[in-house]
Amino acid sequence: MRVILLGPPGAGKGTQAGMIAEKYHVPQISTGDILREEVKIESELGKQAKSYMDKGELVPDKLIIDIIVKQLDEDDSGNGYIMDGFPRTVNQAVAFASALSERGEQVDRVISIEVERDELIRRLNGRRTCTECGVRYHIHFDPPRKEGVCNECGTKLIPRDDDSEETVPNRLEVYRKQTEPLIDYYKGSGVFEAVDGVGSIEEIFKRVEKALEG
Ligand code: ADP
Ligand code: ADP
Ligand code: ZN
Repeated sequence: MRVILLGPPGAGKGTQAGMIAEKYHVPQISTGDILREEVKIESELGKQAKSYMDKGELVPDKLIIDIIVKQLDEDDSGNGYIMDGFPRTVNQAVAFASALSERGEQVDRVISIEVERDELIRRLNGRRTCTECGVRYHIHFDPPRKEGVCNECGTKLIPRDDDSEETVPNRLEVYRKQTEPLIDYYKGSGVFEAVDGVGSIEEIFKRVEKALEG
């Protein structure tokens, strides 16, 4: 099962991708998580990506495509995967399609999670992440059992730097300009499904399952 999750920042891609990965036993490939890890370990890639991420701009396509091609050749990608936050530009989608066709593979589903702006801002405002295992929470909508602490590993939860009030408007604008055109790119492909992303996490997951299995 090869799946792409599309949607603006805060739509719930990471949350849903984690649930799909668990249920269908496929790895979740999150370019955002991979980049944050590279920044944390101060690798060459991390150093190149950081200034873009801090401003809420997209990291150049070339760097992202290299990451993805490497991931496609990992052993655990043989059964498929769930792409969370990739592709984000038409260029990335075209490069991805050609990497897949070289391997005789294709995408089974592209699911676009739709949420309006005010709700996205509420979600990003209250998002807290575990820096150790990457699990996301929300201070109101999906709180951890113990305030400020990860359920899975006990690490302290923190807001992401780029979820700040200064950076969020630019990220939403970048989505509109650079990523939203992907909806039209995939719409004609026969694998595209739009899902209403407003409701409880469990309700959205039911819609996503239906989109996957329907
Ligand atoms: P969100 O889940 O809020 O949409 P991500 O964790 O996916 O955010 O991405 C965080 C940042 O990492 C983006 O603002 C961008 O700078 C960078 N990034 C992640 N994925 C990509 C990608 N596919 N192309 C370019 N930049 C990316
Ligand atoms: P994305 O990866 O698309 O940026 P996330 O999965 O990180 O989005 O979700 C953004 C924030 O919204 C997180 O704090 C998450 O806990 C919360 N969230 C996710 N799904 C829902 C939902 N259906 N209703 C309310 N909050 C949600
Ligand atoms: Zn954790």
